[in-house]
Amino acid sequence: MGGYSRVTCRWTYLNAFDLGTLPAVRATDHEEPSPVPVHAKNASGAEQQKFVYDFSEGNKDLKDLLGGKGANLAEMTNLGLPVPPGFTITTEACKVYLESGSEPAPLRDEVSTHLAALEERMGKKLGQADDPLLVSVRSGAKFSMPGMMDTVLNIGLSDESVHGLAAQAGDERFAWDSYRRLIQMFGKTVLGVDGDLFEEALEEAKKVRGAATDVDLCADDLRQLVEQFKGIVAKQTGRDFPQDPREQMDLAVRAVFDSWNGDRAKLYRRQERIPHDLGTAVNVCSMVFGNLGPDSGTGVAFTRDPASGQQGVYGDYLQNAQGEDVVAGIRNTVPLAELEKLDKASYDQLMQIMETLETHYKDLCDIEFTIERGKLWMLQTRVGKRTAAAAFRIATQLVDQGLIDEAEALQRVNGAQLAQLMFPRFDVDAKAEQIGWGIAASPGAAVGKAVFDSYTAIKWSRSGEKVILIRRETNPDDLDGMIAAEGILTSRGGKTSHAAVVARGMGKTCVCGAEELEVDTKRRRMTAPGGLVIEEGDVVSIDGSSGKVYKGEVPVVPSPVVEYFEGRMHAGAEDADELVKAVHRIMAYADRVRRLRVRANADNAEDASRARRFGAQGIGLCRTEHMFLGERREMVERLILADTKEERDKALQGLLPLQKGDFVELFESMDGLPVTVRLLDPPLHEFLPDITELSVRVALAESRRDANENDLRLLQAVHRLHEQNPMLGLRGVRLGLVIPGLFTMQVRAIAEAAAERKNANGDPRAEIMIPLVGTVQELEIVREEAEQVIAEVEREYGVELKLSLGTMIELPRAALTAAQIAESADFFSFGTNDLTQTVWGFSRDDVEASFFTAYLEKGIFGVSPFETIDKDGVGSLVRDAAAAGRATRPDLKLGVCGEHGGDPESVHFFHEAGLDYVSCSPFRIPVARLEAGRAAARGTR
Ligand code: PEP
Ligand code: MG
Repeated sequence: MGGYSRVTCRWTYLNAFDLGTLPAVRATDHEEPSPVPVHAKNASGAEQQKFVYDFSEGNKDLKDLLGGKGANLAEMTNLGLPVPPGFTITTEACKVYLESGSEPAPLRDEVSTHLAALEERMGKKLGQADDPLLVSVRSGAKFSMPGMMDTVLNIGLSDESVHGLAAQAGDERFAWDSYRRLIQMFGKTVLGVDGDLFEEALEEAKKVRGAATDVDLCADDLRQLVEQFKGIVAKQTGRDFPQDPREQMDLAVRAVFDSWNGDRAKLYRRQERIPHDLGTAVNVCSMVFGNLGPDSGTGVAFTRDPASGQQGVYGDYLQNAQGEDVVAGIRNTVPLAELEKLDKASYDQLMQIMETLETHYKDLCDIEFTIERGKLWMLQTRVGKRTAAAAFRIATQLVDQGLIDEAEALQRVNGAQLAQLMFPRFDVDAKAEQIGWGIAASPGAAVGKAVFDSYTAIKWSRSGEKVILIRRETNPDDLDGMIAAEGILTSRGGKTSHAAVVARGMGKTCVCGAEELEVDTKRRRMTAPGGLVIEEGDVVSIDGSSGKVYKGEVPVVPSPVVEYFEGRMHAGAEDADELVKAVHRIMAYADRVRRLRVRANADNAEDASRARRFGAQGIGLCRTEHMFLGERREMVERLILADTKEERDKALQGLLPLQKGDFVELFESMDGLPVTVRLLDPPLHEFLPDITELSVRVALAESRRDANENDLRLLQAVHRLHEQNPMLGLRGVRLGLVIPGLFTMQVRAIAEAAAERKNANGDPRAEIMIPLVGTVQELEIVREEAEQVIAEVEREYGVELKLSLGTMIELPRAALTAAQIAESADFFSFGTNDLTQTVWGFSRDDVEASFFTAYLEKGIFGVSPFETIDKDGVGSLVRDAAAAGRATRPDLKLGVCGEHGGDPESVHFFHEAGLDYVSCSPFRIPVARLEAGRAAARGTR
């Protein structure tokens, strides 16, 4: 309706599927600042910042400095786990480089010192001709950014040392393959050569040899390919592939620094709300090889199922493969359990290490490992990403195992995850044509038109279409398309493929590895077994919880978590869903510790009752203008047009019983709980006919000479009341003050309804709220009139009503003069929608369609300030006004009823600002309860 934006809309109710624009599970959620960096002494004994740490010098709490990967490699090293030796260049070094364009001066020497120590330990030198030490150079920021930044493997290989490697490994083919991989990776990431040129040369070599995969190429083929690759580098860059190993390393480190500001990385950070100024650390790690034959391999493992939380053996293993092959999803993996048959000793050791890690980190860990000729090496671990359902289940499992307490369990889940669980699922009973089955990689039910490339996904979604992005596998270049799509379907790759990892992080539905579906991106079609063809534009449905893929649109049903909140599923029942049990327990923890009360924004008995079932402790905002819509709109029109007192009184008399009836119902459904009724606050144009339409109607009628008297009056009034920006015009208390009798009619309706409920033995707890107050004088006038009316009603009904009267704080002037306003208010409710609009000078109707996208893209906003409270600006006014109000009136009740009341991050802010309650739309109440609990528990851990 009107120009109201999605986030600030006052006229549409959020329904079951509209949980606001809750963010995906945020990478930054559970993090606490790492301890401050350590300093080192330089050669002359002076203290200087230390830019390089050996793995044995760090620990898991140094993520700010060493990045997640570096900190965890250090932790594993210190736990005595088999980590290939290496060192980490800090994020501080990266920051200096990004700010100044060159590495900090001491870095070179520090790297030399650590490299020398590493060489000493390994008994060989970097790139040594007869037995080269090879290293990987890997990015590793504080927050995981899978595939977003660069990594180069096999640094140290050259025309000379490739022979040394061949001799040491006893494997010519392996050495040449390693060298070809280095030139390819280095060429693409460090020297900026188009990666397709290498891929095409590789494909050509396979064709010539008749090889199905690169494994079928022999040493000679690979030697030739190396020559070709070197030729590509020389031609594209005008320089030879560097033969000096140290130069290779330094250039690779620099490329990793640069990749922090690559487009992909920036986009990902915006999505995940990761600050842009953190920089990345760089890990230089001695190479171990999973591609030395069948007794070697590489894999990814989870200590629990990241999709369900179930304990067990989860992961993928790829025999005779190196590094990124598993994550890239390029070749199909085998389930980790099969490793037991392939290499029992390594498997047993891995299981033991996984147990050690889970007990040590007290959480689900994910792991990357490599087996080099039967020797297991740990390449990475971190507290693993998980689905929303798994997060709740794991948190309660860990409490049961005694590994964490309830306060910690609350930090292991968040409101965004809970919101995800409240999304609907496919109706299992619906007749649906299943056409394939893949891996359930990220839950949810997504329906949309099939598209086969990211460009189309973006284009179609911009024109309002819902799309499912279908690819053979995704890679970081697909990120934009994945963001635009409702869901992602791939025909290759496991649970740890790019598509799966990224979709889970975004909270987006994903089915991957649906191998029987033949995806042909060139012809934009997918063929199911039996020959059924899905063309671009055909509707498909994908179920990220079961992995099933359907043709056409499958109907959806509410989630069991919503059923539980609605009271239709009992968490204590034997057959209750595991997930529902976990949610029930977590919500109970949150309710036990939270200080903030949670109320609902609801305007009718139905919404109020639902809100109550969802745990609302009252109504924080009943927008009475909603009660004047529909048939009653005409009555309001008459009120606005009334020229005489008689006409006005008649209109008001017509409205009074209707309003009273509304309130009786509302008070009944919220019996015993506070109900804040806000007096009328419509921008006036909402109640008057559209000026253009009316002008045309009148003009046409005049040309036919049968102009209607009422229309003419209406048009005059519409012209008189027309405002350029009605959101800043005759609204709220201003309207109440210029239309005599309007507010008193509403106060009477509230008071009479409350009196009626009292006489019926009810317990109504009405609070009357005045909108858009800018100065205490406005409030004083309304208060005086309201008190008179209330006293009259009390006399008429013979009851004492104890109605409290307060105000919204939604204008900067109200916030700035809160101390005065509190003299006339029993409570403040912060209207952060209008406060955001007025503090920023944005029109809430227009901005999101005009320049917000550009602002988000430029990183001026991490997120719309209408969605998450702008702590520094709007937030500081809230904080100060709350304190000033309380200084005047210590018992002043403080709440918030703008959309921010249901936003996870904002709830934490309101907790810290000392408010008494937040109020939000009914479906966000569980989220607000949970976040209020998390905010309170955070300090108690
Ligand atoms: C607000 O401004 O924050 C508020 C709750 O009022 P409305 O959205 O109805 O203007
Ligand atoms: Mg408002």
